[in-house]
Amino acid sequence: MLIQLIYRSLSSLSFSAEELTQFGRELSAKNQNLQVSGYLLYDGAYFLQVLEGEESSVDRIYSAVCKDLRHRNIVLLLRDPIPRTHFDGFRMDTLDVRCVQGTSANNSLTILGSAMTSGWNSDRRSERIIEAFIGGRWRDAVPALAWSMDYEQAKVSRTTVKPAALKAAAIPATQTRFALQPIVHPLSQRVTSVEALLRGPLGESPQSVLAAIAPDRLHEFDLHSKGDAIALAAALQLDCILCVNLLPMSMVSNAHAVDYLVGQCEKYGWPLDHLLVEVTEEEAITHLDDFLGAVQKLRASGIQVAIDDFGAGHAGLSLLADFQPDKLKLDKRIVQNVCSSGPRQAIVRSVVEFCFCLGITVVAEGVETIDDWLWLQSAGIKRFQGYLFARPLIQGMPEVCWPAGVD
Ligand code: C2E
Ligand code: MN
Ligand code: MN
Repeated sequence: MLIQLIYRSLSSLSFSAEELTQFGRELSAKNQNLQVSGYLLYDGAYFLQVLEGEESSVDRIYSAVCKDLRHRNIVLLLRDPIPRTHFDGFRMDTLDVRCVQGTSANNSLTILGSAMTSGWNSDRRSERIIEAFIGGRWRDAVPALAWSMDYEQAKVSRTTVKPAALKAAAIPATQTRFALQPIVHPLSQRVTSVEALLRGPLGESPQSVLAAIAPDRLHEFDLHSKGDAIALAAALQLDCILCVNLLPMSMVSNAHAVDYLVGQCEKYGWPLDHLLVEVTEEEAITHLDDFLGAVQKLRASGIQVAIDDFGAGHAGLSLLADFQPDKLKLDKRIVQNVCSSGPRQAIVRSVVEFCFCLGITVVAEGVETIDDWLWLQSAGIKRFQGYLFARPLIQGMPEVCWPAGVD
């Protein structure tokens, strides 16, 4: 099967125009054996390479690139089957973007198009990705230089990351148990919030605890369990916001749900502006008016609201169009591997942009690696939740592991 693969990378070396041409010749010779053709663009700092050929050959070249120290911050932008290659014969042409920048866009596209058998086709994704690279707009969104500096510092300090030490906690005698997981602001090394995650008596998952509840009691159980989460946070004297998960219907089906939460906060002396309710779109959208009414009541009492798992399928743009939460939690499926995935990077940048315009705070969930964290931070996200910083601890507050050396 023929495929097309496009990646972008930061070059470790600086190339003059002549050196780039020479580099292109070397690549052409190598790739000819593998019958792979394509294009190498260079803008003075970054490469963009288009590779077309048999799947196994293209993948072989790409994995060699990933191991090549001349390429850093490698991001996969596209990898798709194609019916035929777009290039004449087997060739690896180079384009020095510095020479065409400033000239008209059409001119640079003509230069590129001349290498293609089938001509330049701006309906194709690959050509639009090339245009975006030449235009340089993708660089405005992320301070690439800042990222590469942070990234290098963190690599140096990766070995010095301390394992999280767990602190024994005072455990109040409540009916329902919760695991607590911090949400952190690494730039100031502060824990800004803590999420209470439902657990069974033996540490069972929230799904299995909720599945064991009779369907007609589910929403009541969900709501009333939050009293125990508030009791736990108060007993531990946590000095941050407590985030609790609620099915939207747990707020909607009981007309006094918000009064109940307010009452529990008063009972345990937990400030109302230190409580945040996380919801996903799943049920909210089917009872939108009732849900929006409940949100108004929460806000009137000072309790904050977050959309959880944004980008997971349950939580999406339509809910956001009707109501703007205080926080938006980006789902781990968007967060994980963001450092090397072009589509994820483009999605995160646009989420950061619209949240900035709407005054919504973005939280990245499921952060497990330094590379993903640093990419997200350079894209403007400041709050993080994930195993990199702390795993959930049952009935206690885990200590946070701050990756060392990155201030
Ligand atoms: P969620 O609200 O998105 O919670 C985050 C989930 O991601 C938690 O799973 C947490 O343990 C996990 N997680 C945190 N950091 C990482 C990481 O770095 N990597 C990975 N792979 N996972 C990470 P958990 O505790 O199993 O909760 C699953 C879901 O159950 C929650 O997702 C939430 O939607 C729901 N849930 C939890 N507590 C309650 C509750 O009291 N009521 C209701 N209705 N749902 C709850
Ligand atoms: Mn949640
Ligand atoms: Mn979530």
